[in-house]
Amino acid sequence: IVPDFELRYKAEIADQILAWKEKRNAVILAHNYMEPALFHSGIADFSGDSLQLSRDAAETDADVIVFCGVRFMAETAYILNPTKTVLCPGKVAGCSLAAGITAEDVRSLKKRFPGVPVVTYINTYADVKAECDTCCTSGNAHKVVEALNSDRVIFLPDAYLAGNVAKETGRKIIYPQAHETEDDYKDVDYQMIGWNAKCEVHDEFKVSDVENARKQFPGIKVITHPECPPDVVDVADYSASTSKMNDFVKNETAKQFLILTECSMADNIAAENKDKEMVRMCSIRCPHMNEITMEDTLAALVELQHKVTVEEETRQRALKSVQRMLEIG
Ligand code: 13P
Ligand code: SF4
Repeated sequence: IVPDFELRYKAEIADQILAWKEKRNAVILAHNYMEPALFHSGIADFSGDSLQLSRDAAETDADVIVFCGVRFMAETAYILNPTKTVLCPGKVAGCSLAAGITAEDVRSLKKRFPGVPVVTYINTYADVKAECDTCCTSGNAHKVVEALNSDRVIFLPDAYLAGNVAKETGRKIIYPQAHETEDDYKDVDYQMIGWNAKCEVHDEFKVSDVENARKQFPGIKVITHPECPPDVVDVADYSASTSKMNDFVKNETAKQFLILTECSMADNIAAENKDKEMVRMCSIRCPHMNEITMEDTLAALVELQHKVTVEEETRQRALKSVQRMLEIG
């Protein structure tokens, strides 16, 4: 519940953002995790999950793209639109997954497992994407892995998403130590090679959270993001990207839902589904997504600040990986 004075204050900021958006010929993309005041303020031209927003970024003809999301998302928009001004209205707006792997890590892994195609989750920085064959998001990871049509695939950097995709596609996954090579696994039957990065938000969810909710709320539907640990995903009713989670709630007849993901997202779903109850675990917010505020969005537009760019040679190599993902779908 947002008090009236705050609604009035936010509405004034929204008006100013809309005016500056026109002045700058800007487009605003907002990830599903944006705080409800921003998400429902009407300032965003497009909202959705990482996959949808990448597609929207690829198609815009605006001069300025304001990405209300974290830095790797804004970077992806720049990779696709190097002639445009791309702004990310947060000072750092990082991500524990993107911070969990470097380009050098990927080069080393490719040397240790030569010839194996590399898929990187979109939650990585451009220099990591530049070392990989294709990107994927939680919305198309399964499809991208299958599209590579390879006996073995390296899947980076999210250990849990990789584990969940391995399970879905019937592959056995290994997580090699830093010193291990292909030779150390010559007697092992495996089809996927994972890394050990984790999302600091989704790593917090436990099987016992699901069990407790089911005890307290019989008939509750449990929805997880595939960045959750595989044992949690196993006991859920549904697991998918943030936008697909949203669609699931809309189309389900059940009245109560436990949404195991960042909690602004559950707030946003609750606002759009007034006849349904979200049983939330709202101590778990993504500190990086929560850096993005309406005030900073306005300041970014006014001052053209928090520009995101990528060095050209890296951008061109990263672009191949992003384009391949968009072609796969
Ligand atoms: P989606 O691609 O499902 O929107 O997820 C992005 C993300 O960072 C989830 O933590
Ligand atoms: Fe990164 Fe996790 Fe935040 Fe998503 S929720 S941006 S994966 S830290």
